[in-house]
Amino acid sequence: MSGSAARLSAIKAVTDFKPISEPLNFATTASGDLYGSNVFNISVMEKRLPKQVFKSVKKTIEKGEPLDAGVADVVASAMKDWALEKGATHYAHVFYPLTGITAEKHDSFLSPDGKGGAINEFGGTALVQGEPDASSFPSGGIRATFEARGYTAWDVTSPAYILENPNGTTLCIPTAFVSWTGEALDKKTPLLRSMKALNVQALRVLKLFGHKDPGMITATCGPEQEYFLIDRNFIMARPDLINAGRTLFGAPPPKGQEFADQYFGAIPDRVLAYMLDCERELYKLGVPVKTRHNEVAPSQYEIAPIYENANVASDHQQLLMLTLKRVAHKYGMECLMHEKPFAGVNGSGKHLNWSLGNGAVGNLLEPGSTPHANMQFLVFCAAVIRAVHKHATLLRAVVAHAGNDHRLGANEAPPAIISIFLGAQLADVFEQIKKSGEATSSKKAGTLTVGVDTLPPLPKDAGDRNRTSPFAFTGNKFEFRAVGSSQSLSGPLVALNTIVAESLDYIATELETATGGDASKLNAAVQKLLKDITNAHGAVIFNGDGYSEEWHAEAAKRGLPNNKQTIDALPAITDPAVIEMFEKYQVLSKREVESRREIYFEQYVLTISVEARISLEIAKTTIYPAAIRYAGELAGSVTNLKAAGVAADTTVLTKVSGLVSALVEKIAGLEDAVAHLGGGGHGVANPQESAIHCAKSVVPAMVALRGVVDSLEGVVADDHWPLPTYQEMLFIK
Ligand code: ADP
Ligand code: MG
Repeated sequence: MSGSAARLSAIKAVTDFKPISEPLNFATTASGDLYGSNVFNISVMEKRLPKQVFKSVKKTIEKGEPLDAGVADVVASAMKDWALEKGATHYAHVFYPLTGITAEKHDSFLSPDGKGGAINEFGGTALVQGEPDASSFPSGGIRATFEARGYTAWDVTSPAYILENPNGTTLCIPTAFVSWTGEALDKKTPLLRSMKALNVQALRVLKLFGHKDPGMITATCGPEQEYFLIDRNFIMARPDLINAGRTLFGAPPPKGQEFADQYFGAIPDRVLAYMLDCERELYKLGVPVKTRHNEVAPSQYEIAPIYENANVASDHQQLLMLTLKRVAHKYGMECLMHEKPFAGVNGSGKHLNWSLGNGAVGNLLEPGSTPHANMQFLVFCAAVIRAVHKHATLLRAVVAHAGNDHRLGANEAPPAIISIFLGAQLADVFEQIKKSGEATSSKKAGTLTVGVDTLPPLPKDAGDRNRTSPFAFTGNKFEFRAVGSSQSLSGPLVALNTIVAESLDYIATELETATGGDASKLNAAVQKLLKDITNAHGAVIFNGDGYSEEWHAEAAKRGLPNNKQTIDALPAITDPAVIEMFEKYQVLSKREVESRREIYFEQYVLTISVEARISLEIAKTTIYPAAIRYAGELAGSVTNLKAAGVAADTTVLTKVSGLVSALVEKIAGLEDAVAHLGGGGHGVANPQESAIHCAKSVVPAMVALRGVVDSLEGVVADDHWPLPTYQEMLFIK
């Protein structure tokens, strides 16, 4: 075997790998017994809280009623006792700053008792409010450093939990994070506000359909998380993977994903052991993980939970990402959540499955078997269609970031054009409405006959799937597929909840006016409304191949926006209509929206700057030395051969030395582009301007440099090549 010493030792470490954790035993401890065992959930509260207090907290959680401040001391005391029994020494307010990470500030329960000893203390005040010194989190100018105060506030609707560590456990309390002027500095605050707005407007529509007391309507969300698992020995030999989470160099391997032998293939033992461990940790935390499988690209996998209330789902998603990363180390692997860790094979997304409803009214996007006759469903579905068409640029903006630029609008799914896939059955129903103002039939789902007598007949879905659509109706929910794998769910959820709330508001107002309180007029009013919405917003519906050239042309004709990159997409979050909407539904103020826009541009600039600097470092200190050494070696051989009187071929030498010259030139080009960027670090002077410079100059210079490096990888002798190759990283497990 050839390869540089560093690569060979990495490969040896990978192939010699022995699991470092004890095997789990599901027979002695069943998953069902573990489920939720580290969660301060409703049933724990019922057991541990006085009846009145429990009732009051439950009302807040289930009905959205205001939290009774008087209960905090009692809840805190019960929570503390429970946590101490589980070995907790500290509690932590967990919050979600705009960087998308999960942040936590830990405090010990112990307080000196004044007599030389210490007691465990945790009162209502400590539960309800925290004050992390969070001045280093980006605030987009909302909170200048001289007024650095930020507060965390207990979110009673997302349960507290215990996080385990071999040396002790911590009580974690999900919180919202706000400035001392009450402005949102985080992802959770607007999410909670948007859920409230959605509830209010959905209830108005339900009332028209005769629901007397349907209870609180919640947005529901079930995210599918894609990720790569790569052996840590390779990662350690790749500064780009360590610091940027993606490979900045790497020629395509001889074998990629073309055989489709990875998708749903047998899960490798080590990976399966890892998955079982992750799932077990997540069960303890009450995260309802359900599905696991191999994904399309080599070494790519997926995990998905069962859907939950969107706020809880979002917190659980953050926990899931942390758990995937943490547990990977136990198995000698790194979990890569970047949208595009490897060029040339599929990137990773996070499909956001979304609906709304509750126990009493069920799922409001459930069409039943005859959707044409299900007026209530059609109205809610039309609300989504109108919302997505009206606010396509906002939906595109909330998934815009440097990582996702490699997927959306680039060479990969889904396209940056936001359209809706409805499936054959629903598309037909809305087509009928558009044509005649009324739908009179639904295509039948039917049964699949496989043609083998011993196989059971299979019920067939009324619509096929479409993997090329960024926003697809999948039976009884919409699936927003453009979300990036590393992203917090909150931004996309805030957008979805708010735009649908706005559409439901519009619909409720129209129907209230048209019926004037007379229920017998509802049918006619709904028919007119559906026809109007289909006429005005039907252009967003597209059931064909979203990757095709024809669609891009057709979409342009239909006036659908196609914001290819982050710099094109982000500005939409401060469109006047968007700000007006966020303010109207009290989800985000103008200042909050503007600060977010600035922060997201800044994040983009920081990401690209780091990538550029790593590219330069690797190119200058690793690739150039390897290439020049190899050129020297070739030159030496040529000289020797000539001295020996033998014909010496110089083709390869000429090629290598040409590439070395190109390398030097491209390094200079990237250095130049980076130099024009200025300082870097915290506080990018003009985020949008810098972002444009990044996209237009820095990124192309990086791509050009990569082109030369990847060509060198194809000619430099393998024992000189310093970086683990795609072939090694993706296929040696
Ligand atoms: P798919 O349809 O993508 O093959 P599933 O039916 O397993 O896969 O659903 C994918 C995700 O969608 C899961 O997390 C699932 O819980 C979630 N989901 C199902 N119903 C709803 C709903 N009503 N609201 C939100 N998410 C849902
Ligand atoms: Mg799916």
